[in-house]
Amino acid sequence: MAANTATNPPVRRLIVIGLGLIGGSVALAAKKRGLVGEVFALNRSADSLQFAKDAGIIDQGFQSIEELLSGTKENDLILLGVPVLAMGPILKQVQQYLETDATITDVGSTKSNIVELARDAWSGLPSNFVPGHPIAGSENFGVQAARADLFEQHRVILTPTGHESHRHLQRVRDLWTDLGAEVDEMSPEHHDKILAATSHLPHILAFTLVDQLASMEEQTEVLRYAAGGFRDFSRIAGSDPVMWRDILIANRESITARIEEFESHLENLKSALKNSSPEQIQEIFERAQKTRKGFLHKSDEKL
Ligand code: NAP
Repeated sequence: MAANTATNPPVRRLIVIGLGLIGGSVALAAKKRGLVGEVFALNRSADSLQFAKDAGIIDQGFQSIEELLSGTKENDLILLGVPVLAMGPILKQVQQYLETDATITDVGSTKSNIVELARDAWSGLPSNFVPGHPIAGSENFGVQAARADLFEQHRVILTPTGHESHRHLQRVRDLWTDLGAEVDEMSPEHHDKILAATSHLPHILAFTLVDQLASMEEQTEVLRYAAGGFRDFSRIAGSDPVMWRDILIANRESITARIEEFESHLENLKSALKNSSPEQIQEIFERAQKTRKGFLHKSDEKL
C-alpha cells in the first residue's frame, strides 16, 4: 500500500459520525494512506472512542454533534456510519450545526430512505450530500473490528440524485478510489432493488435458518452434528441484529418482493420433491451450481 505523503492531504479533517466497523475502517485506512490531516469522530460509547484514540484510528472523540462540527471547513468530509434508521436524527443535527460547505456522505446499506431523510432534514436535497454504500464488510461490528484493507478491491456504489455539485461528488469518488475501491454509480431505487437480492435476502435466509434450528426440540443435537455447510451458510447470521433490523425496515418493499420470489422457488422445489421428480431437482441444482461457479470465477478474476 503506497502511503500518500502529500503535505496537503485531500481531506483536511475526516469527521466520522458512528465509529463502528465501517466508519472505523474508513478512518483507519484513510490515515494509513495519508489521505486525511486529522480524524474526528462521534460515538455514543465513550469506551469505543477511547479505544480508537489509543489505537491511533482517530485524533479526537466527541459525544456532541454541535462540538464535533464547530470549526469545520469547506475541505472537510463528514461520513455517517450509523445504522440506517438512525441516520434521520443525525442528518437533522448535521443540518442544524454545519456552517460550511463541507462534503457529507454516508455508508448506509439502503439508499432511497436515506435520500428521503436528507431531503426531509434540509427541506430539499443539499448540494453537498453524496449518498454511498461500500460493498464490503463482515459479520463483525464495532470499531474494534476495523480493518485498513476492508475496501481494497471492493466496489462502492454512489447513488447521486442530481442535486449534488460536481465538486462534492468528485471528492467522495476520490476518497473511495484512494482507499483502493472501485466506484460505480446508480440510482438509489436501483441500488435498493439489487441489494435486496444480493445482500438482504441472503441475510434473511441465514437468520431464519439459524432461528428455525434453534427452535427445534433437538437443537443441541442438531448443532452438535452441524458441519462445514452449516458453518458457511450461517456465518452471516452472526451479524448485528439492530443493523439488519434497520435494513429490512428501510428497504421493506424490495425485500418483500424478493422474499415472495424465494417462496415461489422453494415451492417449486417442494413440489418436485413431493412428485418424486429427480430430473426437476437436479435441473434446479445444476443451474444454481453453474451460477455459483461463474460468480466465483468472476470474483477471482477481479481479485
Ligand atoms: P457497527 O460496527 O455496529 O457501527 C455502528 C455505529 O453506529 C457504532 O459506532 C454505534 O456506536 C453507532 N450507533 C448505533 N446506533 C446509533 C444510534 N441510534 N444513534 C447514533 N449512533 C448509533 O455497524 P457497521 O457495520 O459499521 O455499520 C454502519 C453502517 O454501515 C450501517 O448503516 C450499515 O448499514 C452500513 N454497512 C455495513 C456493512 C457491514 O458489513 N457491516 C457493509 C456496508 C455498509 P455507539 O453504539 O457507541 O453509538
